[in-house]
Amino acid sequence: MTPRPPAQLIDRFGRVVDYLRISITDRCDFRCVYCMAEDMTFLPRTQILSLEEIYSIAQAFVELGVKKIRITGGEPLVRKDALSLLKNIGQLDGLNELVLTTNGSQLDTMSAELKAAGVKRINISLDSLNAEKFKRLTRTGDLQQVLNGIQAAKSTGFERLKINAVVLKNQNHEEVGDLVQFAVDNGIDISFIEEMPLGVVKQHDRGVAYYSSQLIKQDLAQRFTLIASPEKTGGPSNYFTVADTNTRVGFISPHSENFCSTCNRVRLTVEGRLLLCLGNEHSVDLKAVLREHPNNTAVLKQTIINAMQIKPEKHEFNVHEQPVILRYMNMTGG
Ligand code: SAM
Ligand code: SF4
Repeated sequence: MTPRPPAQLIDRFGRVVDYLRISITDRCDFRCVYCMAEDMTFLPRTQILSLEEIYSIAQAFVELGVKKIRITGGEPLVRKDALSLLKNIGQLDGLNELVLTTNGSQLDTMSAELKAAGVKRINISLDSLNAEKFKRLTRTGDLQQVLNGIQAAKSTGFERLKINAVVLKNQNHEEVGDLVQFAVDNGIDISFIEEMPLGVVKQHDRGVAYYSSQLIKQDLAQRFTLIASPEKTGGPSNYFTVADTNTRVGFISPHSENFCSTCNRVRLTVEGRLLLCLGNEHSVDLKAVLREHPNNTAVLKQTIINAMQIKPEKHEFNVHEQPVILRYMNMTGG
């Protein structure tokens, strides 16, 4: 008998989906100005997936060929029992990489347990090295707490640590060089992200705050030599290496360099909505399927396979128009 080919999720454009991002909570201890409104209301508990439901969906995806899972949020580490979920997902047979995106506020105390749970790589958001600016951008965050978290994660020894910085004109764009220097000094990587128009924010005009990856590269060229790297890590970043260092600088440029043709990702919101694209509303309600057909993995898996047929070709972001996507990034799982 010929062995069965490995399961694969493939969309209408021939893209293989092998990467799932799961938002395990919409809640957060920060209120970053580009991510949330100041007065966010969060979902009631009955509307969100239980940890068991999240695990069942992760398991179905891995059985369908997903090799990489990123746990995100909201702030994933503020969800009670996040560690036990991470540990269970980390043990799924066939999963190559369990990675995490966090604001770093809990890393000081949780790094060792995260490593023990099987987390290989961590992305930590850090938009400013100036305590006052950091507070302005996160509204409630404490820079020192995050810096302590980064040091704790460094001492724990993950395979890779990366800083994520969303760059806003006249708010932190003048710090891109210092942020790269921080990454070099700490032997870690960094990615710069162009702000995406998800949800309505009142604190700034996204069009006015737009600062392109091209401008960041020009600014960095004054201080560093960046060498283009062919490396891809399965995400949307384009990488460069800072000459004479091990630090890579990535650029996530949804506006200036559309990355949709190589998209290999889908997202699960904490409400159980499978989002086929960050910048479109095409989605399937996996929570309803799970609750209508408890313990029926076959139905869940077939729903996921069918969902690939509605994955859009590309996002339609435009920072100069009112957002068409009303969900915020904390709902989406960045
Ligand atoms: N709380 C964690 C954190 O901040 O890393 C994980 C969730 S957060 C939504 C994931 C990433 O999305 C962060 O790196 C954050 O900077 C980024 N992000 C949030 N809102 C964004 C937006 N409107 N445009 C681009 N990136 C955004
Ligand atoms: Fe919280 Fe992350 Fe959103 Fe900031 S970007 S408000 S830390 S979820």
